[in-house]
Amino acid sequence: MKLLKNIVYYGIIIFSLWFMWHTFTKTPCDRIIEYDISYDDRFRITETQFLSFVERAEIPWEEAAGKELFRYSPGADFKINLIFSEEQERLYEGNDISANLDQQQADLDSLQTRYQSAVRRYETSLRQYESQVQSYESEVEYWNNQGGAPTETYNKLQNDAQRLDSKYQEVERLRANVNKLAEENNQEIQAYNEGVGDFNELFRDPKQFDAGNTDGTEINIYSYDGNQELMTLIMHEFGHVLGIDHVEDESAVMYYLLNDRNKGGELAQADIDALNLSCKLQ
Ligand SMILES: [Zn+2]
Repeated sequence: MKLLKNIVYYGIIIFSLWFMWHTFTKTPCDRIIEYDISYDDRFRITETQFLSFVERAEIPWEEAAGKELFRYSPGADFKINLIFSEEQERLYEGNDISANLDQQQADLDSLQTRYQSAVRRYETSLRQYESQVQSYESEVEYWNNQGGAPTETYNKLQNDAQRLDSKYQEVERLRANVNKLAEENNQEIQAYNEGVGDFNELFRDPKQFDAGNTDGTEINIYSYDGNQELMTLIMHEFGHVLGIDHVEDESAVMYYLLNDRNKGGELAQADIDALNLSCKLQ
């Protein structure tokens, strides 16, 4: 009886010690976080693509930790939600304007080429016309000084005058073509500038917005510009789920702002240090 008591007694002690040890040493990396996704089809990626970005966002953390941390599991309580926002609408609109501007730029370039060659054709034709007029006039002047031209020459000069007339019409046609292309060019430049204005208007006040967040029970992604940014955002929120706070290093995924240095989706040393600390890996 005494022995049994002792066992029970020690058992309670051991359990308490284990429980305390477990409570104080348990880290966010000690269990696999199973998640499901939800999606809004106003985004310009498919649900399958969204899932593939989420799955890719797991990899750098799992490689750094040396173990599986996240797992897609349909029906899991932990949700990763892609939520369509006004900011996303603005980004898409901006992308559309920008693509349109690229097209207009290409059109303008080709119009410019056509304009320049039209100008060259017009100038060549004009020079030819002017020199033909000059030789015609000096020939007429010569014969006038002679007191008149023989019939044969007179007829030739009449023909020359007619040819000059059609040459003049050709020059005028080419001039009109130059003007038409110049007009077209101006209209396209105006349309291009309007597009630039629309784009600038759209992004006039650089808003601070919530691109994503997590409360530890779900992740919400509200907007992203490009797939790389989407993946980095998910990585960032995964980092928070792993208990990591923001770090100072701009090139770190866990920096508080997405920027050109961290949106490549690669963990910086500062991220890895923060993971090691949070998950007591070293
Ligand atoms: Zn954050």
